[in-house]
Amino acid sequence: MQRTAFLNGHLVAFEHARVPITDRGFTFGDGVYEVTAVVDGKLVDNFAHLRRLSRSLAELHISNPYSDKEWTGFQRDLIAANGLNQGVIYLQVTRGAAERDFAIPSPTLSPTTVMFTQVKDIMGSPYARDGVRAVTMPEFRWQRRDIKTISLTAAVMAKRLAAEAGAQEVLYIEDGLLTEGGSSNVFIVSADGTLVTRSVSNALLGGITRHAVLEIANSQQLNVDERAFGLEEVRCAREAFMTSASTFVVPVISVDGHLIADGIPGPITREIQTRYIELARLGGCLT
Ligand code: PMP
Repeated sequence: MQRTAFLNGHLVAFEHARVPITDRGFTFGDGVYEVTAVVDGKLVDNFAHLRRLSRSLAELHISNPYSDKEWTGFQRDLIAANGLNQGVIYLQVTRGAAERDFAIPSPTLSPTTVMFTQVKDIMGSPYARDGVRAVTMPEFRWQRRDIKTISLTAAVMAKRLAAEAGAQEVLYIEDGLLTEGGSSNVFIVSADGTLVTRSVSNALLGGITRHAVLEIANSQQLNVDERAFGLEEVRCAREAFMTSASTFVVPVISVDGHLIADGIPGPITREIQTRYIELARLGGCLT
């Protein structure tokens, strides 16, 4: 099957999806993105992803070129055109192409919209089964981590450092407290069995999977505490896991080489992982 991409309102052959070199996404990283999981050919939690897309665009004063209904229609067409069963759909909106100048050109540019699909065995990944190792590093990103910007140089650097240390994820530490993972939100199960994750603010991305996991935890009558925590609490936690749309729920089994509990994914992590997969198969969270 020929690979198909979406560009500015049209499905096009992947190799014909081209944008001008003056696109502000290319020159400034001036744009935002979303990654929505696809399970059994269906979008997962897409309503929430489109809501966050609108928010990120509004924060950057880029107009959203399509309604949620239009986006969803294009996404479904793209999934069908690529015959995608399990994987992700990547969506990006940049401010558009203009002569290079930091000042935002007026009159308003026409945003560039791009989507493509990627095949990925999210639920069968060895990391989902066995867990990942994480390493900490000082938070060195900007102060608006709540915006899902395509300016991801820091994430690329951080992931390289993690790989060099034999780990799969980084945990950012700021003022002694964990903000989030390199491309995930982080949860721990504390010594008293409470599920703890940092509350949303400008310091971290309000993850869509994070939100769904909190809904699951509430439905399971788990004790939940949304608060900041430090490295020591992670090291002493009974369990730890991370969440993202492209990996779902993944156990974190060590931090900086120190095993969390006995280094084996814990029962609460497993339960939430299973429940999230069930929810994803139903299209995700309704709230
Ligand atoms: N934080 C960061 C920095 C991320 O890149 C991601 C994944 N895009 C997340 C958290 C998780 O968000 P979501 O569950 O919406 O994928």
